[in-house]
Amino acid sequence: MQVDKHKVVTIDYTVKDEEGTVIDSSSGGEPLAYIHGTGNLIPGLESALEGKTKGEEVNAAVPPEQAYGERDDALLQAIPRDRFETGEQELHPGMRFQAQSEQGAQVVTVVDVSDEEVTVDANHPLAGATLNFEVKVVDVRDATAEELEHGHVHGPGGHHHA
Ligand code: ZN
Repeated sequence: MQVDKHKVVTIDYTVKDEEGTVIDSSSGGEPLAYIHGTGNLIPGLESALEGKTKGEEVNAAVPPEQAYGERDDALLQAIPRDRFETGEQELHPGMRFQAQSEQGAQVVTVVDVSDEEVTVDANHPLAGATLNFEVKVVDVRDATAEELEHGHVHGPGGHHHA
């Protein structure tokens, strides 16, 4: 069976950045199971897996426009320091937290802290990055009607309902 729209695909994967640093990996944990063709994976990885079969290994370099997009400097914002209620916690670059904006809740990263202002970046941390995937297709099967209705996989590597 080939990877195609509405197949449940189970993969072992490792993803590295351009410097070869591992960003994420299923190694040591459960393989990832997802429903193909429903936007669960980044587009570049879905296209690389299209048509593959159980046991195949896929290496794919996925450019930003097929992954988390290019960086957008308009998403950098300086916010008056007194707007932050961090209690005892000290603000420092690299901190990430949820912020409320007109677009709803989003995760932002602190990039700079001065006495008056805190600069935050709302870009996805992987925006602008080319991602290098090493993937092994562990299994391919048809999705059940219930899985398609829920939009996620049930059972191993997927969603476990209480
Ligand atoms: Zn479900």
